[in-house]
Amino acid sequence: MARKKIRSATTLAIREAIPVRAGDGALAPNERKLNFGDRWSYAPAPEQSDYIRVRPRYQLFIDGKFRAPHSGRYFDSINPANETKLAEIAQADAHDVDLAVRAARRAHRKVWSGLPGRERGKFLYRIARLLQEKAGELAVLESMDGGKTIRESRDIDLPLVAAHFFYYAGWADKLPYAFPGRVPCSLGVAAQIIPWNFPLLMAAWKLAPALAAGNTCVLKPAETTSITALHLAEILQEAELPEGVVNIVTGAGDTGQALVEHDDVDKIAFTGSTAVGKLLTRAVAGTRKKLTLELGGKAANIIFEDAPIDQAVEGIISGIYFNQGHVCCAGSRLLVQEGVFPAVIRKLRDRISTLRVGDPLDKNTDIGAINSRMQLDKICELVESGLQQGAELVQPRMRLPEKGYWYPPSFFTGVTASHRIAQEEIFGPVLSVMTFRTPEEAIERANNTPYGLSAGVWTDKGSKIFKVVSKLRAGVVWANTYNKFDPTSPFGGYRESGFGREGGLHGLLPYLSLS
Ligand code: NAD
Repeated sequence: MARKKIRSATTLAIREAIPVRAGDGALAPNERKLNFGDRWSYAPAPEQSDYIRVRPRYQLFIDGKFRAPHSGRYFDSINPANETKLAEIAQADAHDVDLAVRAARRAHRKVWSGLPGRERGKFLYRIARLLQEKAGELAVLESMDGGKTIRESRDIDLPLVAAHFFYYAGWADKLPYAFPGRVPCSLGVAAQIIPWNFPLLMAAWKLAPALAAGNTCVLKPAETTSITALHLAEILQEAELPEGVVNIVTGAGDTGQALVEHDDVDKIAFTGSTAVGKLLTRAVAGTRKKLTLELGGKAANIIFEDAPIDQAVEGIISGIYFNQGHVCCAGSRLLVQEGVFPAVIRKLRDRISTLRVGDPLDKNTDIGAINSRMQLDKICELVESGLQQGAELVQPRMRLPEKGYWYPPSFFTGVTASHRIAQEEIFGPVLSVMTFRTPEEAIERANNTPYGLSAGVWTDKGSKIFKVVSKLRAGVVWANTYNKFDPTSPFGGYRESGFGREGGLHGLLPYLSLS
């Protein structure tokens, strides 16, 4: 009953908000509305894709060569924007995984671990330059296979992929300086399992530090987005990376499990869901294998009354709608201080109606396709639970393409901390908005989650940033910005968001033993 009262009061506040005029008759900044008129529209601006060579079949990459899977089985990779089959991907079983681990072990023993750091660095620089050279083609492939917009794959994913290789190339011959007074030594064979939301970027986050530190790798991409990893394998061949230093086995959870359970793996690096992360923790317990986990999140993005509201609204947009909301550190819980709640909600409602959902290969598209039918079903199920539990859904009126997997940019108001949409990762373009009165309440609400990956704070006051940030239990906190990534900066969480860091000097540590 009490909850209902609060909800109707907020709705009223939005409806009754009367524009406040400043002395000169102009609207106060918080009351200004975006007006795009109705005479402007975008012409289609498709990225050229007819030159892209998608192979009908992709094989496993083991010991420097492409080879058919032991089982002879393949599975389909679907373009989520039109539901057409893009290619067949080899399904690796325990036998293939064994071949890959053996190849990696041989390469570690015979070549890679004995190579001087500056030589390893040269290979990494070469890979980075080849990635830059082929960035256009890889960005298109990434968008076709995963549904992300070309704007993001071209301007964010691919530049960061190359930057990670460049950055860790620089560390390869400087490991003793990275850890003064210690003797760094590679671990051996690293098993690396990655998710589908940033396929090549996650591969780069894993491979670049592991190789710089002198390890060899067996990488398992996610089953819906394996294609660009296999194009990366071609780049590794072109860079003449010694055979077996990087091996790529494709397949679903079974393949990942076979890799995790292989006796001759020294290190497991996993990025994915918390549920699978917990399975891995159990599988590794009692073995000598080292483990790092980068798992899910339910980040709070906190807007204080003194924040620059227009910029904060842009931060909210990039915090939750970037990459269709398929982002572990997405600002998926918006906490707004009560005084600015009506203004923020109004601006947010206006802003999401300007977002363009559609063809990922169109350069004007803001929100691309949902990665898979399964993920779309998961988003719909959680949205339904939000409605059932009494929250109010705001969605712009828009026509979605008929074929493919789509979800409009959405947000919920009237959310309470106990709602599933406030607790569980939706991993889609859906935001849960809540309010707070004091900084203490904002901190308490932000920390009221089993996760601890990221958070955002928007305020005019530097002192408030320091005060609040020091009390937020999150691995990464952005102040007056959101979703900014850089290879020099460590990323990772704690609690149910995992442990270990990727990026920066810290990203080398999980791949080294220090004596
Ligand atoms: P997922 O856990 O289902 O799958 C991740 C990877 O693990 C895939 O390659 C999958 O095939 C493999 N896998 C599945 N079952 C396995 C098993 N039993 N043993 C070994 N491997 C197994 O996750 P997803 O749906 O692909 O990705 C989304 C999740 O990843 C979200 O929860 C998101 O928050 C998280 N994520 C975290 C980060 C981070 O840095 N913290 C980054 C990106 C994504």
